[in-house]
Amino acid sequence: MSNSRLEPLIFEISRPGRQGVRMPAPDVPTTEIPATLRRDNLDFPEVAEIDVVRHFVRLSQLNHGIDIGFYPLGSCTMKYNPKVNEAVARLPGYAAVHPLQGEGTTQGALALMYMLQTWLGEVAGFEHVSIQPAAGAHGEFAGILMIRKYHLDRGDEKRTKILVPDSAHGTNPATTSMAGLEVIELPSDEKGDVDLDALRKACEEHKDTIAGMMITVPSTLGVFEEHILEIVEAVHNVGGLMYMDGANLNAVMGVIKPAELGFDVMHYNLHKTFSTPHGGGGPGSGPVLCNEKLAPFLPGPIVAIVEEAVDEDDAPLYGWEMPEKSIGRLKAFHGNFGMHVRAYAYIATYGTDLAEVTRYAVLNANYVRVKLKDHYHAPFDRMCGHEFVLEGHWPEKAPGIHALDISKRLMDYGIHPPTNYFPLIVPEALLIEPTETESKETLDEFVEIMLKIAEEAQTNPDLLHDAPHTTPVRRVDEVKAAKELVLCCRPILPE
Ligand SMILES: *Cc1c(COP(=O)(O)O)cnc(C)c1O
Repeated sequence: MSNSRLEPLIFEISRPGRQGVRMPAPDVPTTEIPATLRRDNLDFPEVAEIDVVRHFVRLSQLNHGIDIGFYPLGSCTMKYNPKVNEAVARLPGYAAVHPLQGEGTTQGALALMYMLQTWLGEVAGFEHVSIQPAAGAHGEFAGILMIRKYHLDRGDEKRTKILVPDSAHGTNPATTSMAGLEVIELPSDEKGDVDLDALRKACEEHKDTIAGMMITVPSTLGVFEEHILEIVEAVHNVGGLMYMDGANLNAVMGVIKPAELGFDVMHYNLHKTFSTPHGGGGPGSGPVLCNEKLAPFLPGPIVAIVEEAVDEDDAPLYGWEMPEKSIGRLKAFHGNFGMHVRAYAYIATYGTDLAEVTRYAVLNANYVRVKLKDHYHAPFDRMCGHEFVLEGHWPEKAPGIHALDISKRLMDYGIHPPTNYFPLIVPEALLIEPTETESKETLDEFVEIMLKIAEEAQTNPDLLHDAPHTTPVRRVDEVKAAKELVLCCRPILPE
């Protein structure tokens, strides 16, 4: 048995009797574990410490991460996570605070959450904020439940439909149906904007039953919706409310405020916009913000000042308040507090310079877009926000090459693939988001590699079909993996 770096990875390194930890002799009396709580055959791996260390360090070296390379995964915003935010989140006063501690011993944590609420509100132009939801999708769910409750509260029970553009992230229609509402899908026009005629027609046809509309700004196609004000007006005119999916705030924060566009409610993805490592699929934080109209329905409890400071040197007293007609609690305790700390640290660092973060994100995306658009098919040849979409195929020049082949080949060059096959309405979509944190050198290198791959697609297509060539596991059967989900590592034992 050897896990040298030159050999294929061996997962099963357990050997009977081998030991990694030597427990000290107990200094308290031993007690029998009740039979009902006891299991035989626990099947713990038996391995020495050094084997465990090597196994995991080796696995970590096989992993691509933002700390070792470019990671242009569109829609996910894999921006660099400033290390100072991680250091702050690990301060014992934050990291070791227990969720069951009362207000008496957690005023510092509450003050941080209160400040974060205030800052998020200022950036978006909304006064009312709940930082409880644990992901973007969770924030969406909160917002749509709030819209539904708002209509029900007014005795308007017929409003059960939500307009959703066909470019939307899958969580938008999923949220709508989880909230018990019905999706009306709106087509996009050839420029990537919502088809205004179709929107007006839908508003007319369903005018008494529209609860609201969910829209991402800029859209997941990477373009800023040119008619956003007309859209907001059309939906408001028939009594619907406007929900902004704020996942793409990286393209607008500090420059425009969603509230000023006329939105009623929105969410942030703190892990995308204000940093937190989320490459493994979590954790997330999706604060929901709204105007006066929807404030009574916010999920809670929410941190509030319960007693004003008596003078300047004094701090106010923070406590919890439940909004009057709240949709209720969405998460145990107070949401993902560690992420609140990171987002607080991020905003405290950039503060009034948030617009500059945005401008670099938009500049970087457009720089790469313009360099690639004559070599890859660009379905929307216009200014993009913080990300842009290309079609990863050349039906005439390189038949048989798909977006997936390009992505797998990128791995050979040490680059994480962009998002594939999303948005769904672009054939062979490659959604590329460089983020504001990449240097011109990195962007130039990415462009150079993308151009090389475009050439390889024509001159040596098998190089793409057989990629990746440099990873221990080559192409995996993604359909099988999704259908026969195995969520933990189990040894395959002989019969
Ligand atoms: C990421 C994303 C979401 C979902 O956010 P999660 O935090 O992953 O739940 C929703 N909409 C858009 C446009 C996104 O990019």
